[in-house]
Amino acid sequence: MIEHKATKPMAMLLQDPSIRDAGGEHLHEDWPFPLDTDYLLGTGSSKFVVRDADHLDNPVFDSADWSDPGLALTYGEFNRAPAERPLLENAQFHQVNVFAVAGHTLRAFEEALGREIQWRHGGPLVIRPHAFEGANAYYDGMSPSLNFGYFRSPIRAATVWTCLSHDIVAHELGHAVFDSFRPLFLYSAELDAAALHESLGDLLALFSALEHAPVVERIFADSGGDMRRPTLVSGLAEEFGIGLRGSGSAYLRSALEGPPYDEADKEPHARSTVWTAAVYDILVELVDAVLETDCPDPEGRRDLDSFKQAVVTATRRLRRMTLRALSYVPPTGVTMPVLARMVYEADQRLFPNDALSRDIAQRVFERRGLWDPELAFTPPGIGLNFQDWDALSVGARAALVAHHADALRIPAGPGVRLLTPQLSTAVREADAARSGVETGAVTERYLHYAYEYVVQQEVWGENGPELVGVSVFNGGTLVLDDCWNAVLLVTDPPAWTEDLGADDPAQSAFRRAVSRFQETHRSALGSLRAPRTDSAAEDRVLVDRPGCPFAVKAVGGGALRFVRRRCDIAEHLRAVGSSSVALRLPGNGGLPNR
Ligand SMILES: [Zn+2]
Ligand SMILES: [Zn+2]
Repeated sequence: MIEHKATKPMAMLLQDPSIRDAGGEHLHEDWPFPLDTDYLLGTGSSKFVVRDADHLDNPVFDSADWSDPGLALTYGEFNRAPAERPLLENAQFHQVNVFAVAGHTLRAFEEALGREIQWRHGGPLVIRPHAFEGANAYYDGMSPSLNFGYFRSPIRAATVWTCLSHDIVAHELGHAVFDSFRPLFLYSAELDAAALHESLGDLLALFSALEHAPVVERIFADSGGDMRRPTLVSGLAEEFGIGLRGSGSAYLRSALEGPPYDEADKEPHARSTVWTAAVYDILVELVDAVLETDCPDPEGRRDLDSFKQAVVTATRRLRRMTLRALSYVPPTGVTMPVLARMVYEADQRLFPNDALSRDIAQRVFERRGLWDPELAFTPPGIGLNFQDWDALSVGARAALVAHHADALRIPAGPGVRLLTPQLSTAVREADAARSGVETGAVTERYLHYAYEYVVQQEVWGENGPELVGVSVFNGGTLVLDDCWNAVLLVTDPPAWTEDLGADDPAQSAFRRAVSRFQETHRSALGSLRAPRTDSAAEDRVLVDRPGCPFAVKAVGGGALRFVRRRCDIAEHLRAVGSSSVALRLPGNGGLPNR
């Protein structure tokens, strides 16, 4: 009889297949899938289902039934006969790899967040490892799925499978996670919101890589333990670049030399490097600080074991610090300086007596122009009013928020639409970077509210200038402690100290929001044409230019909306890399052999 285990080991590559260890072996690990808290059915779990089909769901490769306890899915099993059945060309290995990488990356995110992610459209999320032939991969938010392409490399006589790239899988998963976590970011007119969407994907890839001992060992071997000269993690999706151009792009390295916030590019992929680089900078300093604390003798800091320990500790601390700040983010959008302050605040709430990490973070943010001490987050003392939330009807909850509209800086006025408010609770394990610091569980609650209003914009119609409505979403998060005391109010648009002193703080913030919207989108608004009223039934795209983070769309009737463009990985790598990627491939089509 086969013994039932609590976990099922599932093979995955830890870096692109082009990267190997000293023995010529791929960097790999078996991820222990948690059979005690989740299930395997066919090729899926409660979180993901691998569908080996093209993007129209026509089957591509066969799959095995993973629920069969007799079926081994380990790296050793897939690599048993490398000559007859090469691992990299084995579609069944591709399926297991993409599932394991997505699974363990999601787990780490949820652990930092203190709660499970609910997919925006209900679970599980579809993953298509062989969705199309082409040098690309994308998250499709409209038909929720991760889609990975494959292409014949024009440089090497081999197929590049994007589903084998740990970085690409983690990056696209980041979009799916953030889209479910903050669905209204799709309509955020804030440039930073789109950029942070991109950065989160890359940070998940970075954190996911550094979590594995073989990757850290390889970094140590390459760099002698200097995180300022990283060779491995600085190249995002190496294989992709090598397959296309013969070399990877030193993506993080160019990002680290990237511009400060006030000179950042408007294009979201390029802009994302401002945040990604800042977080990496914090990591580098945190590794140094941990090494200094743990190894007082400088000679002792040069050995692999101390380095490995320091990277693991620093990564864990930084990942939690960065990701838990996301819970404070308003549902509709956020700027990087607000998020920088939230990283600090979230850490202070969890470790009041250990300022090491947040002090490092503040220094880095200051250096990169991301620290704004004038931003105001002082909460109104209304927290206790929300303690019966669970017992209230949906209508009564909205009424409660509307009753406190002034305190929450929700503007009053005709046509303002208050969306259904949400209250969520997170319980997190407090961790300690150093011994002697308290640990335990911390409970926090978040009241998320959002509202929509319409800005009247003059555009050119068939008979000269006319007005059209453009829809804008804003909102906020009221952070409450375990006793329902309000500890922070974080709003989109943000408030500054001077707003709070105004006669009418809500109106003053609102006026600032409208002028900020018009300022940011002057050129997109300037090229708008009035939509023809006779075709209101379908979605019409009014402005959609490459490089502009948004498409302006008429969604059904009503006001126009700014909609974030779908990210694809080719566009991302082109924009964040130091050199441009030529995507025109020679036409050697046809599916690879099955
Ligand atoms: Zn990983
Ligand atoms: Zn992306």
